[in-house]
Formats: sequence, structure tokens, C-alpha cells
Amino acid sequence: MDWKEALPKIITQPGSRLRFAEPLAKHTYFGIGGEATAYMEVNTVNELAALARFHKQWDVPIAVIGRGSNLLVSDAGFKGIGVRLIGKLAKLEVDGDVVSVGAGLSLPRLSKTMSRRGLSGVEFALGIPGSVGGALIMNAGAWGSSFGDVVRNVTVMTDTGELVELTHAEANFEYRHSGLDAYFCVTGATLTLEPGDVDTITERMQAFYKQKVATQPFAEENAGCMFKNPAGDSAGRLIDISGLKGYRIGGAEVSTVHGNFILNIDNATAEDVLNLVAHIQQQVREKTGISLQTEVKRLGFD
Ligand SMILES: Cc1cc2nc3c(=O)[nH]c(=O)nc-3n(C[C@H](O)[C@H](O)[C@H](O)COP(=O)(O)OP(=O)(O)OC[C@H]3O[C@@H](n4cnc5c(N)ncnc54)[C@H](O)[C@@H]3O)c2cc1C
Repeated sequence: MDWKEALPKIITQPGSRLRFAEPLAKHTYFGIGGEATAYMEVNTVNELAALARFHKQWDVPIAVIGRGSNLLVSDAGFKGIGVRLIGKLAKLEVDGDVVSVGAGLSLPRLSKTMSRRGLSGVEFALGIPGSVGGALIMNAGAWGSSFGDVVRNVTVMTDTGELVELTHAEANFEYRHSGLDAYFCVTGATLTLEPGDVDTITERMQAFYKQKVATQPFAEENAGCMFKNPAGDSAGRLIDISGLKGYRIGGAEVSTVHGNFILNIDNATAEDVLNLVAHIQQQVREKTGISLQTEVKRLGFD
């Protein structure tokens, strides 16, 4: 039997869904990429555990896709199963200053709900259009704060479907990186936030958001910052002084608002984006001697 015939048995709960030949462009902020052989929206831990065992049994590649806001999918697509965590895997529970979040929860929703509850620590996250899982994997951050700063524990699933709780230290948070991609999947976390005044927290969150909208492109499709900031410098500044703002290859262009954003302005392909990335890296190295490393993750490339 082919794995595609066996896969529908994984879905047991209402709300969970399976589709074949799913265009991944519609699941990424870049709006780029070919089809996944299969795409599942999974509602419960039990189904996710069954999927982990399926992955092992059939040796089929599986990629968890959060909101696709830090992802470049290849033009050839992904020969495997793309998985999105929804429903019970996107929960939000508050007990005093301890908050339990599912990996599928939207980061802006978390930020807004916490401000209304008078809990401080995730005000920076309103303008980051990812999921909690993506923010844990990437240690997403802005304005001097990172998601890992507020994390007490992380729950991950192994490829045998077991849940393991990791301490903050075991998650190995670094600048735009964590050790969590060593596991099959991140399922959630507990956060410790600081009680505070609702109005003060809300104003702080809104101020961060306004500043972001004023300094970064929001209208065109993109995947956030393409490159990590080198120690003590900013990738955007290096791209700017290298004269690359507005530089275009195919349908992909370096934003004129912020040099570290590559925009899909006219049906860009993943190849256009990667050619532009290579051009930027080569030009910046030539002009400044600094090698830029990409922050955006890739899916479906060999
Ligand atoms: C307009 C815009 C602004 C942005 N601004 C910021 C910013 O200020 N700061 C910042 O840090 N980032 C920013 N980003 C980038 C992005 O939003 C963050 O990196 C975010 O945390 C990614 O989350 P996601 O759910 O979209 O992850 P995805 O892009 O879906 O995935 C990213 C990686 O995480 C993996 N992954 C996702 N969920 C899980 C899971 N549950 N288990 C295991 N692996 C998982 C994926 O396989 C992939 O490797 C921005 C992006 C955009 C489009």
C-alpha cells in the first residue's frame, strides 16, 4: 500500500482536515511555492502522535507549517506532508501570571489577549504574524525582546509520538534560533508574564506596532527579515549602504522601505528570491566584508 492511501486513517476528530496536492503558496506570507503532496490541519495531540508514528513507519517527510511567515517554499513544492496545528493545539489558558499556549496559536492574538488581561511580556509580538510554534522555533523577537524571554517550559513531541516537557534552558534559545527543531514538533509552552496596568501594556503594544508599520513594508507579500543581523550591526543598514534597495530580480525586489525585506512584487518564484539573496550576499560581502546569513527557513529544496 502507498502512504497516500494509508494517511486518511490518521484523521479521527471533527475539524481536522486532509487535502492532497495542496498549493503551499497560499499558506505562506511570501505567496510563493509549489504543492505539498499532502496537507493536514490537525486538531488533537492524539492525531499528531499518530502522524509522528506514520512519519516513522512510512519514512515520509513531514514539515510543520505555522503561519508560513518565515518560510520560502521551493517552486517544485514539498514531496511530503505539510501539517498545521489548529483547534486544541492552538489553545490559550491563563492561570494568574502563568499562561499555557498551544503551538498553533497566533502570536498577534496572544499579544492582544495578554494586553487585555493586564499581563506584560509579549507586547512586542503584535506585529509578528507567526504562530507560537514558529516563534519558539525561531525565538522571534523585536524591540530588544525575544519570545524565549517569557518561556518557562516548552512541550515537544518526539518522532515516536511522546510528549516531553523541556525547561527554558533545555530549549537553547539564541538570537533567532532555538534547539527545538531537533524534535518532531513543538506542541506548546507555558509562559511567565508580569502583571501590570492594562492601559500601560496596551499603549506599549500599540506603540511598537505603529513604529513597525512606519518602518517596515506591510502591503506586499514578504517573509519578514531575510537575513539575521550580524553582531553589533543591522543587515538592513548593510544592504542599504551597498546600494541594493529597490534592486530586482524577476518578480522579487529589495524593499525600498527596509533593505532587509525581500518583496514578492510580481509573481516572484522561489528561484527569483534565492537569486536575489545570493546577489545581496555577494554585494554586501564585496562592499563591507560581512557575510550575511539568512533567517528565513526553506522547505522543499534538496
Ligand atoms: C510582515 C512580517 C513581519 C515580521 N516581523 C518579525 C519580527 O519583528 N521579528 C521576528 O522575529 N520575526 C518576524 N517575522 C518573521 C516571522 O513572523 C517569525 O519568524 C515567526 O515566528 C514565524 O512563525 P510562523 O508560525 O509563521 O513560522 P513558519 O514560517 O510557518 O515556520 C518557520 C519554521 O518553524 C517551523 N515550525 C513552525 N511551527 C512549528 C511547530 N509547531 N513545531 C515545529 N516546527 C515548527 C517550520 O517548519 C519552519 O522551519 C515577520 C514576518 C513577516 C511576514
